Amino acid sequence: MTDTVIEIRRDLHRHPELGFQEFRTSAKVAEFLRQSGLEPTEGIAVTGVTAEVRGDQPGPTLMLRADMDALPIEEETGLEFASQEPGKMHACGHDLHTAILLGTARILQAMKPSLKGTVKLIFQPAEEGPGGADPMIKEGVLSNVDYALGLHLWSDLPCGHVAISPGPVMAAADTFRVKIHGKGGHAAYPHESADPIVAAAALITAMQTLVSRNTSPFDSAVVSVTQIQGGSADNIIPERVEFSGTIRTFQPSTRAALVKRLHEMVPSLCQSYGTEGEFQFSEGYPALINDPVPCRWVAQAAEQMKLPLSAQATMGGEDMAYYLQKVPGAFFFLGAAPDQAERVFPHHHPKFELDERAVPLAMELFLRCVESCLK
Ligand SMILES: [Zn+2]
Ligand SMILES: [Zn+2]
Repeated sequence: MTDTVIEIRRDLHRHPELGFQEFRTSAKVAEFLRQSGLEPTEGIAVTGVTAEVRGDQPGPTLMLRADMDALPIEEETGLEFASQEPGKMHACGHDLHTAILLGTARILQAMKPSLKGTVKLIFQPAEEGPGGADPMIKEGVLSNVDYALGLHLWSDLPCGHVAISPGPVMAAADTFRVKIHGKGGHAAYPHESADPIVAAAALITAMQTLVSRNTSPFDSAVVSVTQIQGGSADNIIPERVEFSGTIRTFQPSTRAALVKRLHEMVPSLCQSYGTEGEFQFSEGYPALINDPVPCRWVAQAAEQMKLPLSAQATMGGEDMAYYLQKVPGAFFFLGAAPDQAERVFPHHHPKFELDERAVPLAMELFLRCVESCLK
């Protein structure tokens, strides 16, 4: 299936679509599934597609999930199959995830007589935001599912390296906004104003203690301020400043503690500078928690294939987390870094590339996991 999968991948790569706009992609997915003898259901959470490979013998249902969406980035790889859509690019590898799961589906369909159970294939929209997993679950895709598996190809792991660990492996990815209201005025008469810029500077500095002083050294968390707006001229103290950023945590208790601390810190510190501060929190994807049983299937498959195996956790977010809140499952990484170091770029970079030699390895990993689950 490798050549077919690479051909599909390159077609999807030429025609990237953003979250909940994956109409061409999902039509291609459904068409390929039908050609493989499956009966796909389309239009779940707008563009999501599912299908089931029902084994001839009874057994559990294992869900395999791929994401389909691209990113609003102008591609600069210069690849022969580069994006033909201005300002859109598959810069996270979801084109490969989709193509790999299609190839896996066709092989599984041919294995039906020996399958003890069902493999449910899920092609979901909008992983990059606002999230397709949660609406697909609300439309019932998990109703008969016992276990779930998802894969992410990874550009900073050497091609063929597998990374999997039980427990929390990707962070809860929340966002926040702070609004500081001061009293504007002439920059030459600061004593007649309440300067929100100085309050913002003090507050951002104080926020650096949330991780270093309020979080256990044995736990992980990130608080990053990523945008700041305020002021309009060199000689004016502005009336207001706003800034925003992200909070990443693994443990729900750490997440709650940081949010509580920010709710206290923002108004009180701003008040001490004569300004008024408001903290707004908005919940993102939850932390992704792997179950040890499916992790063992992945590790065993990697060992059988003699692939290097390591543990990996990242502060990135992933909406696969929603499925794993409901059913035991695992999300694992397969290295797909290009051979030449100068062609290795991080995910979401305009020059992001993955090595297609990961394709047959990814399909074999999925198939071996199916074997372990539906044995
Ligand atoms: Zn991404
Ligand atoms: Zn991704």
